[in-house]
Amino acid sequence: MTISQEHRQHAEDLIEFIDQSPTPWHAVETLASRLQKEGFAPLDEKDRWTLSEGQKAYVIRGGSSLIAFQIGSKPPADVGFRIIGAHTDSPGLRIKPQGMDQQDHLVRLGVEVYGSPILATYGDRDLSLAGRVTIKEETQLTHRLIRFKKPLLRLPNLAIHLNRHVNDEGLKLHLQTELPLLLGRSSDLPEGFFLTVLAEALSVSKEQIRSFELGVYDTQPGGFWGADEEFIAHRQIDNLASCHASLLALLEHTNQSQTVVCAFFDHEEVGSQSYQGADGRFLSDLLERLHFTSEIRHHPEDLHRSLARSLLVSADGAHGFHPNFPAAFEPHHHVRINEGPALKLNVNQRYATNGDGEAVFRHLLDMAEVPGQIYVHRNNLGCGSTIGPLSASRLGIPTLDCGAPMWAMHSIRESAGVLDQLWLKKLLAAFLSDG
Ligand SMILES: [Zn+2]
Repeated sequence: MTISQEHRQHAEDLIEFIDQSPTPWHAVETLASRLQKEGFAPLDEKDRWTLSEGQKAYVIRGGSSLIAFQIGSKPPADVGFRIIGAHTDSPGLRIKPQGMDQQDHLVRLGVEVYGSPILATYGDRDLSLAGRVTIKEETQLTHRLIRFKKPLLRLPNLAIHLNRHVNDEGLKLHLQTELPLLLGRSSDLPEGFFLTVLAEALSVSKEQIRSFELGVYDTQPGGFWGADEEFIAHRQIDNLASCHASLLALLEHTNQSQTVVCAFFDHEEVGSQSYQGADGRFLSDLLERLHFTSEIRHHPEDLHRSLARSLLVSADGAHGFHPNFPAAFEPHHHVRINEGPALKLNVNQRYATNGDGEAVFRHLLDMAEVPGQIYVHRNNLGCGSTIGPLSASRLGIPTLDCGAPMWAMHSIRESAGVLDQLWLKKLLAAFLSDG
């Protein structure tokens, strides 16, 4: 398989994007810094905004969701919005606030399970901590991101001699008792050690730390694999690959007539019902403000006219066909890695795409000159979902669900195809410029 320089460079950039983003807070910081470099200005939801044609800006809610937009020359009531939605979070383990536990000379950190990770993949990996700490500085509370680069933690597997049935029955981990992560020997770790480590890393006193939100991440950087290095492996490909493709599509957007919006939401993996999630008000609030803070005078009906003319693409990973497990896949809808982004269809509306959405998808493939595929889940397996149906029902905007195929979704080390990443970006760029 030949991998062009353009495909390779795009995948290298994606790997770097994920390397920099071990948590949703870091992902938002990575997005914000790339947006700022390209002239997008940060806005605060607490301020009064004045927006004008051609303006590029972004707004962050809750530190882990971000919406970026570029104002077009034509009123949205005449041409609608073009919106892409993706999610910044990935399933995994989060540290409990009082998680330090001593057992037989060893200190372990207690964890909560966030979303639905494949827990067995956390065994024997070089794990560490990253997240956000709230600091009291004089009278103010501020947030600081933190990331330990060296592997601090581990979940060693039980030897096969002590777990003889592991290969027949699969690795089952008890959620409460068998997930705490080993941190060190208790004789070396005094009381309050954990806060001390956080305080030292942030150059503050222990007393200044008011709270921490820390996730467990795999310190191994992303990389290429396969005979021609045609695949990538990394944590969080679901859904940082879609965030990265959406970001680049927005950054290269030049069509000035339509207002384009890219929304990057936290909390998709836990149902999106939150202050900053896709089932909350963040995107609808933003679209309203894009109306009422622009220079154009509006008729009260205009917002609804705009929404009626808008389209949303929900970009999220698709399940690539795995030849070792053919029974898990619908036989006539194999979606193959490196054969193009997949449109996701589900008549029960676990995916938001309808017949019109499928027609739009085919049109975008033609425009972008990329191959594409159609994914349908097997009837006898429960289907996952995306932010697509939530944002479609909340906003009343027709939506299509699509994304690059991948293997091992929700593993700590997922895989995907090099070719599909650039193709997804081209598809999303075509969507933004097609107004
Ligand atoms: Zn996802």
